[in-house]
Amino acid sequence: MRLIFFGPPGAGKGTQAKRLIAELDIPQISTGDILRQHRRAGTPLGVEAQGYMDNGKLVPDDLIIAMVGERLAEDDAGVGYILDGFPRTVPQAVALDGLLKQRGQSIDRVLVLRVPDTNIIARVVGRRVCKSCGNAHHVEFNPPKVDGVCDLDGGELYQRADDTEAKVRVRLDEYTHNTAPVAAYYEQRGIVREIAGVGLIDDVFGRLKGALG
Ligand code: ADP
Ligand code: ADP
Repeated sequence: MRLIFFGPPGAGKGTQAKRLIAELDIPQISTGDILRQHRRAGTPLGVEAQGYMDNGKLVPDDLIIAMVGERLAEDDAGVGYILDGFPRTVPQAVALDGLLKQRGQSIDRVLVLRVPDTNIIARVVGRRVCKSCGNAHHVEFNPPKVDGVCDLDGGELYQRADDTEAKVRVRLDEYTHNTAPVAAYYEQRGIVREIAGVGLIDDVFGRLKGALG
């Protein structure tokens, strides 16, 4: 199964993806997580991406497309995957189609998580991310059992530098202008499903599985 999780920053894409990969044996491919790994490792890509990420701007398409091309060529992606945070522009979606076509593959579903901007700000500002697995907790809505420690793998939780109210507003603007049109790109194929992303995480997960059939 090849899925795209779509929605604004803080919509719950990563949270829901972590749940689904525990049930389906496929990897979550989060371009945000991969970019943060590059930054921590100090690779040329990480250095180049840093300024864009810290300012809430999208990293240029050519860098992202090359990075995803490498990731999709890895063995574990052979059985399927959840793309989380990619494609984020129409040129990225076109490039993904090219990569899939080479393999005789296609995307099965695009799941769009709908969350109003007012909820988004509170979610992102209170988000605490695991340094090792990328899982997101929230200080109020999804607190860890032990303060500062990820429930999934015991990793250290931290607050991302771009998870401030001002940066989220820039990212929402990027979403509206560059990313939202990607949903229309897939719409005509009849594979897009919209899911209300507000309410309990478990309830959203139930709706998401319903949309997968
Ligand atoms: P969120 O989960 O809040 O939506 P991500 O972790 O997906 O944020 O992304 C963090 C940052 O990484 C983005 O603001 C952007 O700078 C960069 N980024 C991640 N994925 C992409 C992408 N597909 N295209 C361009 N930039 C990206
Ligand atoms: P995305 O990957 O779309 O950027 P995340 O999965 O990181 O979003 O979720 C953003 C924040 O919102 C996290 O702190 C997460 O714990 C929290 N969150 C996720 N789903 C819900 C929900 N249904 N209700 C309240 N908070 C949520």
